[in-house]
Amino acid sequence: MAGVPYLEVASELCKGCELCMGVCPKQCIAIGDKLNSASYRPVYYTGENCTGCGLCFYACPEPGAIRVVKP
Ligand code: SF4
Ligand code: SF4
Repeated sequence: MAGVPYLEVASELCKGCELCMGVCPKQCIAIGDKLNSASYRPVYYTGENCTGCGLCFYACPEPGAIRVVKP
């Protein structure tokens, strides 16, 4: 049986542009409350409802910032 898809955000590569949040049909990406070392506010996966659709991945302009894991 396939596992549940989830999202990994590389906090140090994210620039907090929120484009991924805007396209996620499940609204399961949120903006964090801490700054990364480049003073951006990275997003994070809320921990549920990701379908693995990949829209966030394709919307993200920062290479490597988002990984959709489909176990
Ligand atoms: S893969 Fe789809 S459902 Fe999952 S976080 Fe990204 S946009 Fe949302
Ligand atoms: S689209 Fe990419 S850079 Fe922008 S907030 Fe989402 S993960 Fe961060």
